[in-house]
Amino acid sequence: MARKVALASLGVALIAVSGPSPARPSRADRDLEARLRAHIEVLASDDFDGREPGTDGEAKTLRYLGREWYNIGLVSGTNDPGNEWFAPVTLVAREPAASSARFLRKGYRTPITPQDVLVLTSGKRSLVRNAPLLFVGRAEGEEFTRNELAGRIAVLLDGDTPDSKRQNALLAMGASAVLTVLDGDRNMEEVAARRQRSGYALADDSLGGDLEAFISRDSMAALLKGTAHTLDALEKAAAEPGFAPITLDVSASLEATTRETTIHTHNLIGKIPGRHPEAGAVLFLAHWDHFGECGEPTAEDRICNGAIDNASGVAALTEVARRLAKGPQMDRDVYFLSTTAEELGLLGAHAFAENPPLPLDHIVAAFNIDSDAIAPAGTPFAIVGRGMTGLDADIAKVAKAEHFKLLENDEANEYVRRQDGWALLQHDIPAVMVTTAYGKIGLMRDFFEGDYHRPSDDLVHLSHPLQLGGEVEDVKMLTALGRWFADPKKVPFKAGQ
Ligand SMILES: [Zn+2]
Repeated sequence: MARKVALASLGVALIAVSGPSPARPSRADRDLEARLRAHIEVLASDDFDGREPGTDGEAKTLRYLGREWYNIGLVSGTNDPGNEWFAPVTLVAREPAASSARFLRKGYRTPITPQDVLVLTSGKRSLVRNAPLLFVGRAEGEEFTRNELAGRIAVLLDGDTPDSKRQNALLAMGASAVLTVLDGDRNMEEVAARRQRSGYALADDSLGGDLEAFISRDSMAALLKGTAHTLDALEKAAAEPGFAPITLDVSASLEATTRETTIHTHNLIGKIPGRHPEAGAVLFLAHWDHFGECGEPTAEDRICNGAIDNASGVAALTEVARRLAKGPQMDRDVYFLSTTAEELGLLGAHAFAENPPLPLDHIVAAFNIDSDAIAPAGTPFAIVGRGMTGLDADIAKVAKAEHFKLLENDEANEYVRRQDGWALLQHDIPAVMVTTAYGKIGLMRDFFEGDYHRPSDDLVHLSHPLQLGGEVEDVKMLTALGRWFADPKKVPFKAGQ
């Protein structure tokens, strides 16, 4: 598949070169392309070690971008004299530390091999002592009253499509803990690995204290030996219509602790001051972070350089800033935000929205740039988040004025949750991506299935070379969007209405 796409794009390139006129890039376009490439070369070099938050790679990245932005003529956009340019973001990495489970059957201790039970908590340390087990089968939390569940450990059968929805519902309805019997597709290692990966949060997010335990099917069956129930019979009962929860002759003490590591990282925020900052602001953003070293431990190349994801995006962000700073002063402030910890769950964007340098309802429009240089010049623009904000009509006007083609379908919305704009949308900031990178969705899919989040997303190994032609057009379009949305005559201010 990667190969087919590469040949197709080669075809486009040949036609463009041999065709009649407009494809030959101007001197200015070639200069812009060279600058984009230079940024990407620096940011995705091995010296920056994959730009992991809290590491020397972060220090190098922010020093580079800070110097570029200062030289372009931006000023600090943090609006915080104590933290110019670099807004601190504190993260915690949480990983399961200790897990213990003790079971009593009819009052007698029942040995279960520790590796057959995994106890996890969303807090630092949680425990329940001697709580009775209540078998709920495949039922959901809403099917119970609080009295039925309070003080109990709800025992449920895992589904074929595992998610934590049923577990969370049971906890919300008052169960002391949930114990999932792994009878479905996943095993204990997968449960543990998943928890390992999703363990990042902003430090000031409140901690839960939920207790969630998992037990293998064999161990659950062993646990019930000599009681009034067998696991086979319970499974059958759970499938019957009118099933009611069954109290088991087993109780359990569960305990789990979590290890926390604090990571100090930063969002970079710059600004072009407008004549009328009270008239609102425009925001451009792109995440600077990536995964650091993430290849297999034995691999020769372990650094995930993130050339496309997202050195290309911060390169475009920087060049949009240069163009907007050069032109006549705009009415609105224009903010440039390079976020941290996008790869850990859009955490830098959430931090920006939770501790913003300006009232969020002053932001007239936000344009995110993530993973550019995917499509060649001449590719139509897609809006990621099309139909989800009030921005589409104005974007269409700008595209028309700039002679760019805009796609009229929602295909790119499939990816809307996978980028920082999604975090801003949660805070009611109108945020979209306007880009050629999603203009031929097959090219983006190809990237996601290939070099995405792998050590091969670098300038040397990319299976599908950087398409700076598309990125040059993105910079032009975003610059035009910046001027348009920074003009209150074109886009009136609607904050607080
Ligand atoms: Zn990524």
